[in-house]
Amino acid sequence: MNKPFNFTFIGRSGSGKGTQAKLLMKHFGNLFYVSTGDLFRDLSKADTDTSIRIQKILKQGGLPFDDLSSTLWMHELAYNLKENEGFILDGAPRRVNEAQTLDRFLDFLERKETTFNLLVDISREEAFNRLSKRRLCKKCGRLIPWVGEFKELKVCDKCGGELITRADDSPEAIKSRLDYYEERVVPTVKYYEEQSRLLKINGEQSIEDVFKDILKALK
Ligand SMILES: [Zn+2]
Repeated sequence: MNKPFNFTFIGRSGSGKGTQAKLLMKHFGNLFYVSTGDLFRDLSKADTDTSIRIQKILKQGGLPFDDLSSTLWMHELAYNLKENEGFILDGAPRRVNEAQTLDRFLDFLERKETTFNLLVDISREEAFNRLSKRRLCKKCGRLIPWVGEFKELKVCDKCGGELITRADDSPEAIKSRLDYYEERVVPTVKYYEEQSRLLKINGEQSIEDVFKDILKALK
């Protein structure tokens, strides 16, 4: 049996990797979607010692200790991923340790050869701009990216609601997220590059063009 294709998405906050991951889901179908951001938000809603600490960390725009992320996505995949199903990992791996853990898991599943690691590449300056200028619809909660034609929007394009900036997009919180990327994620990018296992996509284009480049790279 041919093993299904799997994808990981790496990129700075604001790179639009989540949006691209969802487009890829629609395009291929039969993919199990795992977002580490969603897993942490879910966990923060529980009533446990860990959850309460996660809530605090998420508020400050930080990230919890390293192994927790791997534990969450591995648990999610181990309990849900079917044999004939591919998966998308959005937001992981971040660190080299995590990439190595994922490699061991992929070896176990015999999926290493059929897994593509996609880097949606934007500069730190572009990321800072996008994160500090993106807006939230007060009415429906839609997050409007600071990219392409969305920059021109005066009200929400889905419901006409008022647009505001997000409280957790303070310059300090953004800076700390971007610092984390330089310190911890850039070595992971190098880890994949050295093994020729990275597909680098120019993220500083419209959403449609980024997606076109992803499909081209996968051919
Ligand atoms: Zn809206």
